[in-house]
Amino acid sequence: MPTEQDSTTPPATKEEPTSEFLIGSVEDNELWLDTCPSARTLIAYSFTHAAWLLCALPCKRWGCRWCGPKKIRGLAFKVERAEPNKLITLTVNPKAYLEPRAAYDHTRRKLADLAKVIRKTRGPFEYMRVLEITKKGWPHYHLVARSGYIPQAMISDTWASMTGAPIVDIRQIRKCDKVYAYVIKYLSKQQYIPWTNRRVSWTKHFFKEEIKDPETKWKLINKTRHLEHPAAVAACIMDGRVLTRITPTAFEIEDHYNDTIGKLYISEAGKLNSWLDRSRRAR
Ligand SMILES: [Zn+2]
Repeated sequence: MPTEQDSTTPPATKEEPTSEFLIGSVEDNELWLDTCPSARTLIAYSFTHAAWLLCALPCKRWGCRWCGPKKIRGLAFKVERAEPNKLITLTVNPKAYLEPRAAYDHTRRKLADLAKVIRKTRGPFEYMRVLEITKKGWPHYHLVARSGYIPQAMISDTWASMTGAPIVDIRQIRKCDKVYAYVIKYLSKQQYIPWTNRRVSWTKHFFKEEIKDPETKWKLINKTRHLEHPAAVAACIMDGRVLTRITPTAFEIEDHYNDTIGKLYISEAGKLNSWLDRSRRAR
């Protein structure tokens, strides 16, 4: 969760930082330590701030305890602005398949076909699809859709002829309904699905064009990506050391004050393994 602290000023440390590093992420000024546990680091120079930045690059996976909820909130907000007017639930007939994965592979393609049929007869049909699974692991779909009037029987008959699953539920979203809350509810229920990562997808024109504020887009140059967590890199830099990459998983640390050179080893997963193998070196 974002905190109150202003990320344009470096957090207080025991000693004053020796470099002009600004700690924050490119997109939203999240705080340096309050970020994805699997985040990587981007170091770049910002023209906007006339300073070097240490940026968190979150993993952006649904399953991440930090990125997941953030993604859900962001998506729910965008969905609300897309002004959908229908919630459509499409079921799958488990008797028609040997196992859930086969059901998913078949029906997700049929979903695109269904959309084509609707567009042909009923005009524009844009939607975001949320995949859910039942307790027994069978898929079904929730569509948050924007379209003109579609008779329930038409969707239901078409879906039944394509997949053998006649159960289709359509609900109108009224102006007073909280679309944001619906979407949060759908997305928060997400369980682990062994056979796909694509829980959510949407049609090309479902979301309204985003208008980016040029002020929020930081112009960055001299970008370098580091494999490890920004907190680790920040700790290093704040301590007056400079990192140089030797191999993809090892960095050399130069300490300006003590003339020491150490090595920082990063494990395969990008996590900090052992901080420092310090050895003094005469200059
Ligand atoms: Zn993450």
